[in-house]
Amino acid sequence: MTEKQRTLRFAPSPNGYLHLGHVYSALRNRELAERLGGRLLLRMEDIDTARCTPRFEEQILKDLNWLGISWQGAVRRQSAHFSGYRKALDRLRDMGLVYPAFVTRAQIRSHVAEYERQGTSWPRDPDGSPLYPGNERSLPDGDLAASLEAGQPFAWRLDMEKACSLAAQDITWSEEGRGPSGETGAITANPRAWGDVILARKDTPTSYHLSVVVDDALQDITDIVRGHDLFHATSVHRLLQVLLELPEPRYRHHALLVDGSGRKLSKSDGDTAVSALRRNGLSADEVIRICETGARI
Ligand code: GLU
Repeated sequence: MTEKQRTLRFAPSPNGYLHLGHVYSALRNRELAERLGGRLLLRMEDIDTARCTPRFEEQILKDLNWLGISWQGAVRRQSAHFSGYRKALDRLRDMGLVYPAFVTRAQIRSHVAEYERQGTSWPRDPDGSPLYPGNERSLPDGDLAASLEAGQPFAWRLDMEKACSLAAQDITWSEEGRGPSGETGAITANPRAWGDVILARKDTPTSYHLSVVVDDALQDITDIVRGHDLFHATSVHRLLQVLLELPEPRYRHHALLVDGSGRKLSKSDGDTAVSALRRNGLSADEVIRICETGARI
């Protein structure tokens, strides 16, 4: 049997400029694709149509071209595929695994603050956000119907306990890189650490978790190379892959590029944007060298 062609993807969100952190990740993807004789695809993760703009996307494409980072095939834009994510959500709904949640983030925050005032800390997810209290998991039918009828906006949340029981098996993934604490090899997923995650937001008919697993399967991605910041999210991705019967990719998480004071680079650090570095006179090779050597800028 011939082995499936190895396929990787670089998947920025066009809600800001391409910065050195992105370039580092794109280079790690390109390097592995070359080593494996595989393909590198480009995906725009633009489900947040308010924050992701055609202008940012255009600039990202320009910057990648300037850096000489190329990809195969057409760029996939998630905003053009909402109906595909909807189908996956419907399947989970038919399995009885998702439910409408009307509570707002502000309401969760004030609920948690109220609780913590009594002196006990509220559980947090791996990103440090308070876990959703789960109090809408089994709303009385009458209350649910009334909220729906009143046109109250809602998100679809995954009933994590039910989802984990249905998946039954111990879910693992193969980590070929390293997690933030050096985790490598066969990793046991812990999706419960995230609580009842949102699979479709109030203002967007999908979520990062749902669309990323649908696309990785649809685009035949065999190897996922991305930063440590998404290491723990892999637990949710693996659970969704099991529930939706999607293939399991290999994962390779890499360290994040940090600035001179050891902070993770972010889109808000305008001075690490590739376009700003270019305006300041750096060449494409110099930008790549900064990423390759982790040199301070
Ligand atoms: N769109 C995500 C980001 O820009 C990357 C998602 C992924 O690689 O799974 O951080």
